Amino acid sequence: MKLYNTLTRKLDDFKPIKPNFVGIYSCGPTVYWNQHIGNMYAYVQWDSLVRTFRYLGFKVKWVMNITDVGHLTSDEDSGEDKMEKGAKREGLSVWKIADKYIQQFKESLSALNITPPDVMCRATEHIQEQIDLIKKIELNGFTYHTQTGLVFDTSKFSAYAEFSHLNLDQQYAGARVEVDSEKKKPWDFLLWVTNQPNHIMQWDSPWGKGFPGWHIECTAMSTKYLGEQFDIHTGGKEHIPVHHTNEIAQAYGAFGRQTANYWLHNEWLMFDGQKISKSLGNNVLVGDLINKGYNPLTLRYLVLNSHYRTGLNFSWKSLEGAQTALNRLYDIVSELKQRLDLNGENKNLSEPEEEKKWQQKFVEALENDFNMPQALALAWELIKSNLSDQEKYALLLDWDQVFGLNLAQNAKLKIQNFEYQAEKSKVLIISRSKLTQDLLKLIDERELARQAKNFSKADQIRQDLESQGFKLKDQEGKILINKK
Ligand code: AMP
Ligand code: ZN
Repeated sequence: MKLYNTLTRKLDDFKPIKPNFVGIYSCGPTVYWNQHIGNMYAYVQWDSLVRTFRYLGFKVKWVMNITDVGHLTSDEDSGEDKMEKGAKREGLSVWKIADKYIQQFKESLSALNITPPDVMCRATEHIQEQIDLIKKIELNGFTYHTQTGLVFDTSKFSAYAEFSHLNLDQQYAGARVEVDSEKKKPWDFLLWVTNQPNHIMQWDSPWGKGFPGWHIECTAMSTKYLGEQFDIHTGGKEHIPVHHTNEIAQAYGAFGRQTANYWLHNEWLMFDGQKISKSLGNNVLVGDLINKGYNPLTLRYLVLNSHYRTGLNFSWKSLEGAQTALNRLYDIVSELKQRLDLNGENKNLSEPEEEKKWQQKFVEALENDFNMPQALALAWELIKSNLSDQEKYALLLDWDQVFGLNLAQNAKLKIQNFEYQAEKSKVLIISRSKLTQDLLKLIDERELARQAKNFSKADQIRQDLESQGFKLKDQEGKILINKK
């Protein structure tokens, strides 16, 4: 398995610390506002990484943090407090704002079929761990005090600029007016912030009442759940020069070494040539797609067509194209299944070597820095190949463990059978002879809309069906359809 490692700036062979086990930490969302499709782009990509390792036989522990402490709107120690900004905007407490947007994030994860992380940890629930870590850093002599709090002294870590490959003087030349003029270097950063009486979230600490600086939570929680040394740390590429550079410095201060062996960074999802971002206000939410009638997995399909290091320019037109392609894929899988049901299995199987070759090519795509576009293109090639229906069907469902497009469930929904098993074991009971293809299509669409929680679309279809004389009833896990 090769992964592009920001530490070395090259594709490195992946060597796990423990055999067959991978520990992955992903920088999670800041929950002061909705997570938009740009954020979700990152998590679909990291989900693909997790799915890839699991497919290849590794046990994975995936840890993701939730930043719910009020940090400042800039990466450096200046700007407005994000959580308080959210609270003011909506007239809610900072705690309510966090709960509200954690819920919105979880709904987006689930709509996009992103594997739930094994640990999702909130910064506010790990204040003690952050304090303990800062104490270690202080004890090791990496800190100094200013009026604003306890600061990490980057001059004590000579490799500070190495990770980002940036010239710090250049990066910080002309930087905004410092909130903390006592800092020795503009890039020294706060570990614990004090003397902010107006700040709502405050905790007692050895350095006075205050709150943690925003980088410490990731070092505290990644090492708590994965150990001082773990395999992979992920995040958006904007984290390279500040957040991850500071994480590496903190870990050096606390443990004398940095934490993760591989640091992976995703490119951005853009919209009209600009990064989609909460602060730019050009964001689109997964809920917006659902309201427009898209299956949210269409976004997943679109994202999988871009490599995580290439990024993607989002447009409604490209989403439309993805919808057509994904529906085509569902239709193909459904047709394969129908033909298998009709004709029986074990017909016209190819040489076992032939199927193995396809499997090998798929693994090659995964081992190539988990190249999802390459893996998806292979699926389309497979469909056109002369493998048997049975082999194609088996391989597509097998590969879908990585794609996460729910091929089997969606194909089942489309099978025009007397009785069939839909997702959540719904059984459609109907006298098939009474139904035309068009009606079956509508029933499928309604079920998909219901699964996507697009209830207004589902209701609309129900009304359409009623106007054609068919009454739908969801009863005891079954869909009953009666001709009126
Ligand atoms: P935030 O909530 O702003 O802390 O962002 C959470 C995660 O989403 C970070 O790891 C970001 O790198 C990532 N992210 C934010 N915007 C985008 C975007 N437009 N494209 C890709 N990733 C993004
Ligand atoms: Zn982080």
